[in-house]
Amino acid sequence: MLKPDRIVSTTCPYCGVGCNLQLHIQGDTIYKVTTPFDAPVNKGNLCVKGRFGYDFVYHPRRVTTPLIRKSPQQPGSRTQAFDRAEWREVSWDEALEYTADRLVEIYQRDGARAMAAYCCAKATNEDNYLLQKMYRALFRTNHIDHCTRLCHAASVVALQMAVGSSAMSNTADEVVDNDVFILTGSNTTENHPIIALQMKAAIQKHGAKLIVADPRRIEMVDYAVLWLAQKPGTDVPLFSAMAHVILKENRYNQEFIDARTENFAEFAASMEKFTPEYAESITGVSRDKIIEAARLYAGAHNAAIYWSLGIPEHSHGTANALSLINLALLTGHIGRRGNGLNPLRGQNNVQGASDSGAMPWHYPGYQSVANEDAAQKFERAWNIEPGGLNRKLGLTTTEILGNVQPNGVRALYIMGENPMMSEPNLNHTRHQMEQLEFVVAQDLFINESGAFADVFLPAASWAEKEGTFTNTDRRVQRVRQAISPRGQARADWQIVCDLAQRIEKRLGRPTARWDYTHPAQVLEEMGSLVPEYAGVRYHRIENLGLQVPVLDDEHPGTPFLFAESFPRGRGKFHPLEYVPSAEMPDDDYPFILTTGRVLEHWHGGTLTRNSGLNDLWPEALIEINPEDAARLGVAPNGPVRVTSRRGTIVLRARVTSKAVRGVVFIPFFYGPAAANLLTNDVVDPQAKIPEYKVSAVRITPVEES
Ligand code: SF4
Repeated sequence: MLKPDRIVSTTCPYCGVGCNLQLHIQGDTIYKVTTPFDAPVNKGNLCVKGRFGYDFVYHPRRVTTPLIRKSPQQPGSRTQAFDRAEWREVSWDEALEYTADRLVEIYQRDGARAMAAYCCAKATNEDNYLLQKMYRALFRTNHIDHCTRLCHAASVVALQMAVGSSAMSNTADEVVDNDVFILTGSNTTENHPIIALQMKAAIQKHGAKLIVADPRRIEMVDYAVLWLAQKPGTDVPLFSAMAHVILKENRYNQEFIDARTENFAEFAASMEKFTPEYAESITGVSRDKIIEAARLYAGAHNAAIYWSLGIPEHSHGTANALSLINLALLTGHIGRRGNGLNPLRGQNNVQGASDSGAMPWHYPGYQSVANEDAAQKFERAWNIEPGGLNRKLGLTTTEILGNVQPNGVRALYIMGENPMMSEPNLNHTRHQMEQLEFVVAQDLFINESGAFADVFLPAASWAEKEGTFTNTDRRVQRVRQAISPRGQARADWQIVCDLAQRIEKRLGRPTARWDYTHPAQVLEEMGSLVPEYAGVRYHRIENLGLQVPVLDDEHPGTPFLFAESFPRGRGKFHPLEYVPSAEMPDDDYPFILTTGRVLEHWHGGTLTRNSGLNDLWPEALIEINPEDAARLGVAPNGPVRVTSRRGTIVLRARVTSKAVRGVVFIPFFYGPAAANLLTNDVVDPQAKIPEYKVSAVRITPVEES
């Protein structure tokens, strides 16, 4: 049996649960992962990704040398280059000089509007803080975003509107304190597996009652007392009908409403029309179940709501999330242990990347770029002349790639993201990528987006660098270097600092600090600018991490939020209307396509497709209901063509009653049959999040050759 030379404690690089990993190392090789039973988040449990998914670090496809494309690319004719023969290996000095030259040339010619960057929810807080700082301080642009735009942006906007804070309000394991909890738009078993275990323990050991509201018959339905199988896109009438019942039956919490909220009368009037009968006609959920769910939730002593991407990824995603927030304000199920509003964040550090300012409308800590006081504060901190920072809201991810034109975005810096898998309507995205003048990819692998790049900067993996991740329940935890970087790979924060200094020289205007020797100094700078991180220091998060807000060096962190008040003062009720999804099924496209993830793959799959996990799910399958399959003549595992108004893919069918009639599901990790070739790029007007959960498609069996 192998014996480790050392065991390094770190945080899982995959989902937002943030499990502790103990990496067992011999020489410079990680050969096993375990976790202790007293790990604060996962208590001895790991899912398949955390336990076995680390081998991407050593994958032969990994790129560990800086590369420059051999054939210069022109806007309009840019092509993808996956083959290493199409690139030449260069030194770091040449790669960064070339990158700085091209970025500065475009900036000096076209100004801030031409510059855009994708930060990364897989990278650390420090990596993200520095990339947004480089773009804001040096290129004076707010065109900075990351994949939160494509997952929980509408939850963030709705929570900011209603309570003034956008994170989970409870700790994940507070679910054991729930009498009742609602789980909606979350296939928790596959996407937050350890939280799903905690939910099952709450049900089986503590008697909690689970209400699942989901169009798919996900595994958690087996544990639920009620399954509300609403049609995709009908969340507002479903949850508003529950509010209607609570109002009509006087089950609301008048004391809480009087003391802690505003806009109740206007909200209550808007709920009049959402009778259970009306909601039944739209959602397909029986009025009796709606009434029962409302009574259960309102009658509980402790109740919380958990949701994931099934709520925000709609053209009315903000309204969906507001319909949940209204329920919590109406019943007072918020601001106490076991009572709250909990958007389950997807990627390992999507919460932290958002906190770190990887967003077009906010500096770190959600301080608006349009707020003069905030802008001046960051100008002082970053040594920028008064008025130097851009006060205009930047473009979101979807807007950046919707605005590639001579007078728009010309240069794109992609740190660890893969828009060519994750954006909706990929044929349109491809066209936009082709029009770019200069593309930088900083990653571990040349993925579908990196293949468009002019220069590839090889990044260190999570096991090869120091930093912090902030998990879904706001716990800031250490990421520790366990092995040396492969080849010439460098930590993202080091690449950005090196590049920033070269850009600064060319621009001839010294700005902020770039000479950090350790990411702890970066986090300290961020903490000096973000009150919620003021007390987060590396020495304080050695073992358990700390849950933000951590307001000073003595502050113990905050397990649940809003005990006394909301950050915006009073919680605000929002009146709502039902707005149907943008693209409903019709005779030509009779099925609703909904997309999502599977346990074994992670988001766009850059890491898991380069891991042994890929053997478990080597291709995407379309889930289709047995009755639909029989009617169409689709055989189990038989190939089908799936067509939307935007594209066509061919993949195999998984015939399963997990899919309800009329609704099919495709995971979006698989390049050759990318689900996002089909999805609709219409966005929620407030949050700019695309409608991944409802696209109309046609399905045709394909003859096997
Ligand atoms: Fe990693 Fe999430 Fe699995 Fe935990 S549940 S091991 S954080 S992927």
